[in-house]
Amino acid sequence: MIPAPFDYVAAESAAHALDLLENFGDDAKLLAGGHSLLPMMKLRLAAPAVLIDIGRLAELTGIRADGDELVIGAATPHAALAASDLIRAEAPLLAHSAAQVGDPQIRHRGTIGGSLAHADPAADLPMALVALGGSVDVLGQGGTRNVPAEDFFAGYFETVLEPGELIAAARVPRRPGAAWGYQKFVRRANDWAIVGAAAMDGRIALANMGPVPLRARAAEQALAGGANPAEAAELAADGTEPGEDVHASRAYREHLARVLTRRALEHRT
Ligand SMILES: Cc1cc2nc3c(=O)[nH]c(=O)nc-3n(C[C@H](O)[C@H](O)[C@H](O)COP(=O)(O)OP(=O)(O)OC[C@H]3O[C@@H](n4cnc5c(N)ncnc54)[C@H](O)[C@@H]3O)c2cc1C
Repeated sequence: MIPAPFDYVAAESAAHALDLLENFGDDAKLLAGGHSLLPMMKLRLAAPAVLIDIGRLAELTGIRADGDELVIGAATPHAALAASDLIRAEAPLLAHSAAQVGDPQIRHRGTIGGSLAHADPAADLPMALVALGGSVDVLGQGGTRNVPAEDFFAGYFETVLEPGELIAAARVPRRPGAAWGYQKFVRRANDWAIVGAAAMDGRIALANMGPVPLRARAAEQALAGGANPAEAAELAADGTEPGEDVHASRAYREHLARVLTRRALEHRT
């Protein structure tokens, strides 16, 4: 549980972090809250020679309104999302999902940018961002590009981030008063989802039902066609490709997707 030796550099700005990424190339990794990267380094699943710390950059931290969207800086910790009056009022599904991540220590250190970049299909915030129809601001030497959340995740623990790019912010639509539901099935408190389901505005996203957070499109189409939540939820596992592990078989995950989707649709807040 001891990581391989590494150097540490605290970036002074996002531009500085990009320069450092360019200089160190594949040898470097960005460090935000460290709550996914450091465990991987301790297990020697990752052995970067240099860590570039962006976790303290004020320009990547904070929550603000921008027209009809809320913009959340990549280095904003989960606890700040959960406690934000703005997020709670205008994107409550996101505040709720941030409050479901791990335990208080993880929520105070872990960041939304780190969670999105890590791209664990069982994670809370990627599913929430897909359910909300959000997007990701990606910063590179050539400027910023905006990627819809659904297109951002490319596979198990993989995103469309190119070498030398970083996440600057996440964006979600401002939807005060919109009904939403969120369900997460865990073995123990603080765990990642065995399966998760998040619903808002006729959109349904699932966690851990495939390599990336997925839309339950067949269930969405049924809802749009007039099906009730129970009827629509029966289709929630259609088109998914859940894995099997010690916690759940594929069939059990499919069952959970149907049950959790029904609950997310029926128990909307
Ligand atoms: C015990 C435990 C329980 C947990 N439970 C849950 C849970 O229930 N639900 C859940 O969703 N998560 C859970 N997590 C994960 C937690 O949310 C992490 O904080 C999060 O996944 C990573 O965020 P971070 O800021 O710590 O990122 P780091 O660990 O610092 O970085 C993670 C990865 O993202 C990259 N990165 C970081 N920031 C950026 C950026 N701005 N741009 C590009 N790349 C970047 C890093 O280079 C690294 O590859 C848990 C973690 C632990 C240790």
